[in-house]
Amino acid sequence: MPEKMYKRVFENNRKWAEEHLSGDEDFFENLAKGQSPEFLYIGCSDSRVPATHVMGLDPGQAFVHRNIANVVPNTDQNVHSVIQYAVDHLMVEHIVVCGHYGCGGVAAAMQSDDLGLLNGWLREIRDVYRLHADELNAIEDEEARYKRLIEINVLEQCNNVLKTSWVQKQWLRRKGPIVHGWVFDISTGLLKDLDFPHEKAMEKIREIYHLDV
Ligand SMILES: [Zn+2]
Repeated sequence: MPEKMYKRVFENNRKWAEEHLSGDEDFFENLAKGQSPEFLYIGCSDSRVPATHVMGLDPGQAFVHRNIANVVPNTDQNVHSVIQYAVDHLMVEHIVVCGHYGCGGVAAAMQSDDLGLLNGWLREIRDVYRLHADELNAIEDEEARYKRLIEINVLEQCNNVLKTSWVQKQWLRRKGPIVHGWVFDISTGLLKDLDFPHEKAMEKIREIYHLDV
């Protein structure tokens, strides 16, 4: 029942706050002083992939952006504001793009249904498919092809992060942040590192997308 759930949330929150205080009575006081997260996490909005939980992180340790199918569209001001702030002001050391197997957004992009407003959003994933159509079409098993598109989508979104001037500038200045591509496997609860080759990818991206001042 909605009312019961609503009440439980506030009860849960009180317990959660108490648990933190029992381990460290200054926990929230320190948290209120500011943030200095090591990570920017860009992931899917899917309710089964709670960003900081799966990484075992506490509040204050990851700056988080989530959207359908963890995409970094080149003209999306929301995600790029998050990236620029994380890179220029929070000085994060790592940017993680994390997809997940069983992603409904990626599955929808593989169907031909007209989904209204979502069409434009999912087109980002169709663009990824088009770039890698030879590899993907060679995979006969549909489930395997779906999983591979989820992985390739993560890697292409990592490339999109590298295309921005603020990420390139910080890289030239401080050799950071490092971009990583991960996939979360909901059926095992485990993260898989796709070993995105940050340095090589940056070189390759800058052949075309270099934005030096
Ligand atoms: Zn998803």
